[in-house]
Amino acid sequence: MAGPGEYLADVTEGITRVEDLPKPRITKQSRNYKRRPCPSCGRSAYRDRIVTRVLHDLGDLRANRPVDLRVRTSQHYCSHCDIYFNAETDDLALPKAHYTHRVVSMAVRLVVEDGLPYRTASWHLWRDHRVFVPFATIQNWVEAGGKKGGARRGHGVSGRGSGRVQRVHRRR
Ligand SMILES: [Zn+2]
Repeated sequence: MAGPGEYLADVTEGITRVEDLPKPRITKQSRNYKRRPCPSCGRSAYRDRIVTRVLHDLGDLRANRPVDLRVRTSQHYCSHCDIYFNAETDDLALPKAHYTHRVVSMAVRLVVEDGLPYRTASWHLWRDHRVFVPFATIQNWVEAGGKKGGARRGHGVSGRGSGRVQRVHRRR
């Protein structure tokens, strides 16, 4: 056991290929329902099939591995509106996002509050949280959440294209 302050070599030091990085630990979540209300008309819609959504989460530091969430999500069909929709996973991540809210919040905080450059924030997330986020992705998150350094808690999102802008949730 290492004592405090003892130097621990980063096990990923010298690794240059992504495939050589430690394999993620998989955690499973379920958002699987027989019926859900249609977001358009409110009628109850039956499950049509189950899809799996994969989200990168903050890593497992004890095991020194990344963590991926596999979310089994029911997809429903509303015959009235003739549309398919998925059960909500908004509590975990934004629609179509590949990372959980926790990862986005952490990344944005490193840049906006701690003032780290994007590349340094990316490295920090890998080294201290075992989640690999390309620095350009962090840049997108920060820019969607407000100007660097100028963002205020809870007021960082500008009005442009509100449906497409990635919002940063700060509920905790
Ligand atoms: Zn409907």
